[in-house]
Amino acid sequence: MGRSLVVIGNWKMHKTMMQTKEFIQQLSKKIPSTSIKVGLAVPFTALFTASQASSSKFLIGVQNISPFKEGAYTGEISTTMVKDAGGSFSLIGHSERRRYYHEDSEVISQKVRRCLSEGIQVVLCIGETEEQHFLGKTQDVLKEQLQQGLKDVSLEDAFKIIIAYEPVWAIGTGKSATAQQAQEAHRFCRSVIAHAYNKATAEHIPIIYGGSVTVNTIKELIQQPDIDGALVGGASLDVESFATIVNFSTEVNL
Ligand code: PEP
Repeated sequence: MGRSLVVIGNWKMHKTMMQTKEFIQQLSKKIPSTSIKVGLAVPFTALFTASQASSSKFLIGVQNISPFKEGAYTGEISTTMVKDAGGSFSLIGHSERRRYYHEDSEVISQKVRRCLSEGIQVVLCIGETEEQHFLGKTQDVLKEQLQQGLKDVSLEDAFKIIIAYEPVWAIGTGKSATAQQAQEAHRFCRSVIAHAYNKATAEHIPIIYGGSVTVNTIKELIQQPDIDGALVGGASLDVESFATIVNFSTEVNL
């Protein structure tokens, strides 16, 4: 299929600089070599430590970023600052940002375009809530979030995006989507991308799954044709389980 697998840990608001350094040193030992892309979305305070410790073995990025280039935006972190501290990607539109910080499609679209214009890779997070899921609105929500997130993104830039499908009801709940549910959603997302751009672009963009991924659930998920990896929250905080998820995905990739 030509897409490389991607496994990214989302640490959320966890880990000090010391814990970050220890984690990455251990992770390097537990993942001697890998043919897939492995990333960590770390807190801002741990970004420089993480990029130094990983010395290019892992992709290091952030969980949020400012839509503005620079200026009077108290508390914000710019793309330039992220690059300066060794970050190469940012999660955008994570459901916790949409929910707790009221990020709407307009600000998400601005962040996507800011990152792409400044050379930060985008991991665009989309997903339906539990209510939307039960009302049968999953596809409508995914289509809307994808169209808004990719608004005014050129064909050339679209190639640099990773999509993370994360059903909100599965995040941090221990209730993962089944492999079949996730596959169906991923295939639908690919059709939306094909419609927005073209089939080749849709086939090129990695679509990874997030939502209570564990060492047990990864096995079936990663074997689905349209699931190109995972965005891992809770299970990425433990080096043993994160390394197991990465190593299993590497075996599937061979
Ligand atoms: C996430 O925060 O992106 C996530 C998927 O969390 P968890 O794996 O804990 O559900």
